Parts: sequence; C-alpha cells; structure tokens
Amino acid sequence: MAFRAVHAQWGTVFAHLPDLGCGRSWGQVWRVRPPAPLTCDECQHPMHAKRSPSGLRFFAHAPGAPECALAGETLAHHLLKLELAAAARDAGAHAELEVRGPEGAWRADVLASDPAGSWRMALEAQLSPITPDDIAARAERMQADGVPSVWFSDRYRPPWLGRVPSVRVKDVDGGGVVVVEGLAKFSVEQWEAGPQVPLAEFLRWVFASRVVSHRRRAPVRSPLPARRTVWTAPQYAQQEAAYLEAEERRKRLEQEEKRSLQEERVRWEQYQERLRREDRERARARGDHQGAIHALLERQAALEKPAFEFVLRETGVHPFVEDGGAAEFAMGVPMYVGLTPYGVICPVASRVAAARDRLAALVVFVASEGERRRIAAQARPGQRIEVLDGGLTAVQSPRPPAGQDTLPLPDAIEGTSVSPAAAPG
Ligand SMILES: [Zn+2]
Repeated sequence: MAFRAVHAQWGTVFAHLPDLGCGRSWGQVWRVRPPAPLTCDECQHPMHAKRSPSGLRFFAHAPGAPECALAGETLAHHLLKLELAAAARDAGAHAELEVRGPEGAWRADVLASDPAGSWRMALEAQLSPITPDDIAARAERMQADGVPSVWFSDRYRPPWLGRVPSVRVKDVDGGGVVVVEGLAKFSVEQWEAGPQVPLAEFLRWVFASRVVSHRRRAPVRSPLPARRTVWTAPQYAQQEAAYLEAEERRKRLEQEEKRSLQEERVRWEQYQERLRREDRERARARGDHQGAIHALLERQAALEKPAFEFVLRETGVHPFVEDGGAAEFAMGVPMYVGLTPYGVICPVASRVAAARDRLAALVVFVASEGERRRIAAQARPGQRIEVLDGGLTAVQSPRPPAGQDTLPLPDAIEGTSVSPAAAPG
C-alpha cells in the first residue's frame, strides 16, 4: 500500500491529502468507472484507490504486481508515516510522503523541509527488522545527497536504535505519538534519560537544532540504554566534552603524581642503599684499620726481644725500649742507648716520609722483607733497615673480635699492609 500514485493525466496524487495534492477529490479516483489510470510511482504497476475499514485512504497494487517496496508495506507503517508527516507540519515544516531521491537512490517515507528552503530532512518509519549495518548504509545514501535522516520505530528496542539518529515512539492512548526513548541529558559525569515528549515537540526541537544527534562518549546511568548516539541539547554535548577533558586532565595529573611518588621512592631507596653501602665501607675500613693496628702491635711486640739483643750485641749496652709506638718515630717503638735514640721497631710505612730525617740516623727494625721494601720506599736513601725474625710472619694477623677497637693509636696508619711493594732504592 502507498499514499502516492501517478495519475496518467494529473501526475502525482496523494491519498492522504483532501485534494489529492492536485485540486481533485478522492471521489474522482475511488470507485469510479472506468477505473482511474493510476500506476505505482515505484514499479509502474497499475494501482487502485482503496479505503480501510477505519477510513484510511491509500493506493494498492493491482493483482500480479512485481516485487515492489511499496507493495509490501503494512498499515502500521503507513499510519506511522502519516503521523510523522502530520507532526512535521505541526512543527512548522513542509512534509511530503514517499519522496524518491535522485535516480531512485533512496526513497524517504516523509521528506520534511524548511518552508524557506534552507534544509531538508528524511523522517523514516522503520517497523520491519533491519540490521544496524543496513540501516546505516541507507542513512549514508541519503546523507550523500545532503539529506540527513531520523529513524522512528515503535518496536521494542530495535537493535539499530542509536546506530543512526533515531528514537523509539509509542502511541499513547489519548496522547498521540510520543517519543519514549532517545532523548538524554548529561548530568555531572554520565548520561541519563531525557524527557518523553510528543512527536511534534520532538520534531520542533530537531528542526530548530535545539536537540542534536550526538555521538556519546561518557557512560550512561541505568536505565538509559548505552546507545551509540543520543538526542540531546548542544549544551549537554558541550558539558560532556568539558567533563571528559577534565577527567583526562585529572587522570594525567594523577599519573604524573604517581610517577613522581614512584621516582621519589626510588631516589629514597637509592639514598638508603648508599647510606648502607657507606656504612659497610666504613665498617670494612674500620676493620682493616684495626686489623692493621693489631698486626703492627704484634710485630712490635714480637721484635722487641730480637731488637733488644741486636742493639746489645752491636753496642754492648742494654738499650731502653719504649712501651709503645710514638708519633715522632712514625708510630714505631723507639729504643734508646743511654738518652740517645738508637733504633725504631716497626714504624708505619705511610708515616715514614714525614719522619725520615729523624729516622735517618737510626736503625729501623722490621719483621719481613716486604715491610723492609715498603719502608725503604718512603725513607731516605741509605736508611738502615734490619729484618729480624721475631717468630712472626709479617702477614696480617686475624682481625680482633668486635668490641676490641679501643686502641690508643691515632689515625692514618692504614697502608702498613696495603702499600704496593716498591723496589729498595
Ligand atoms: Zn509498486
């Protein structure tokens, strides 16, 4: 069934218009003999003027019609088209039914247009099942000719709703056709259902761009279904954009803060690790230092007797051996013959250079050849150094147990055991 047909003499006639759109009357095409020369606009098959039991006027294909888009349409579809056209007129637009696009690329159920001619818009009654991809393709074909489309259905949640600019409508008893799904408003951080409004009101908003079809990005609040597009006021679309931008900024800041905290923690851990390493190094150095002192004292103690005998043999005098090392003798233990210094037991090699003049006239006693070389490298050329066997190798003794670090020696005697060996001069 269709609302338009082509009359052989008058051209296009419209069943829903009182004057058929051409200054004629329904009585001139309905139940006339001979039948009015009407054909289908779509398939050119003969048509008859008909009236439904409820009084709806329409054109129907004569028997034997080919496959025709108009032939298969239902009464419900036609009624919705009529409603769309009437609502479009209520909303101040011109409305034409069943308009073919250029070269038949598409056919609009209702083509609404601005009386001033500044815009056109297809209003589509889609009641039969169609896939989202197919409906998107149909919308694109119209858009390619500069005709945006809005799709209407009274079916329960058709799968394509929101894929193209669309709304769900419902015929409310006594209230006419109402848009019940499709309008949404943005609230704080999500979309929620908008109002339900009469079809003509909705079209008035659409024609005036007071609501626009908007590709949604923020989430929806139940029970608003999460459709791809919603109809909303431009300011809500702007609010969504501002919200998403702020959200993006907030997340970026949060990440930066997290990263900076992370870096701070890494720096702190590195700092802690450095402190621990320094502690370990200090402890090791302290251990080395104490070990060196311990070894030195052992050598000095071990050489006391052989050095005493050496001097006695050489001078025939019982020398006097000091109790411990003295700084002016490079921490070595001085030995006196009478009041005159005669020898020094195990001075510290690293301190010998500072005391070399004082040591020059004395005999330096050491416990090993290695010690002799180390001291000779620091002393004056010709320094007399005697290697004595104190029953000890000059190798380091084991470190003293912890807690025994109360040695009376001043600092800077490391090097006794670590200076590189140098050839004697
Ligand atoms: Zn046809």
